[in-house]
Amino acid sequence: KVTVPKPREQRIITIANQKGGVGKTTTTVNLAAALAHQGMTVLVVDLDPQGNASTALGVAHHSGVPSSYELLIGEVAVKDAIQTSQHSERLLCVPATIDLAGAEIELVSMVAREGRLKTAIHEAALAGYDIDYVLIDCPPSLGLLTVNALVAAKEVLIPIQCEYYALEGVGQLLRNIGLVQAHLNPELHVSTVLLTMYDGRTKLADQVAEEVRNHFGDVVLKSMIPRSVKVSEAPGYGMTVLDYDPGSRGAMSYMDAGRELAGRAQLKQDAS
Ligand code: ADP
Ligand code: MG
Repeated sequence: KVTVPKPREQRIITIANQKGGVGKTTTTVNLAAALAHQGMTVLVVDLDPQGNASTALGVAHHSGVPSSYELLIGEVAVKDAIQTSQHSERLLCVPATIDLAGAEIELVSMVAREGRLKTAIHEAALAGYDIDYVLIDCPPSLGLLTVNALVAAKEVLIPIQCEYYALEGVGQLLRNIGLVQAHLNPELHVSTVLLTMYDGRTKLADQVAEEVRNHFGDVVLKSMIPRSVKVSEAPGYGMTVLDYDPGSRGAMSYMDAGRELAGRAQLKQDAS
């Protein structure tokens, strides 16, 4: 079994891109599963009212289940909202229910509305779980839910689809990250960019990959996620691709990405 080094301190990573369908949710659950396979304990926080990450992890998320919604409005403690995924006891999830759909508006009038997730998942609240990674899956918008995710994290991972207009909207995302960093969370930075839905048979995919690498430099992971039917089928069975078809290219590419993500923190730690 391949294992990766544990981070010296818990890493909280927000997976954000206000474009829909770029692979945020797919990346959140499969990267989480990869890190869990590699020996890490990982908590996924589902912040998208659609609850697709919760579905893929096979956790209950019907209306009324303690979820990220109750967490944000301060009705439950994180410990009471955490479920264990069906496929690994090291893979935990705070699900999203449809109740979250109204939160964007409800939050507007709340005290400390941008910092509510951070407060809910602070270290003491998670004491006893020994969580190495927290991955937060964002909805496709830059509203208060995404702002809460950006305030709660130190790192942002941006998935970019190898398609036309790949970088469209990324400038706006980076400006918002800059605003959050300047006013709410000085430690926030884009630590990782992951190229998704890469199709090596097309020239376009290579052009996009090159453009993204020129734009972002070495925060772009070397591992790219191929476009693969297995990846898109897995959630229909309440599974990540690592459980659905561990030998598939999609599964292996997420394992590679997980290893790379973990190894990079190690490099940084050793250098400091
Ligand atoms: P987002 O969360 O950014 O909206 P998703 O992760 O839900 O995006 O992905 C959008 C769609 O693309 C989903 O149907 C998903 O199954 C599919 N998809 C994501 N990654 C891949 C991939 N590598 N290969 C094939 N289909 C993928
Ligand atoms: Mg999604």
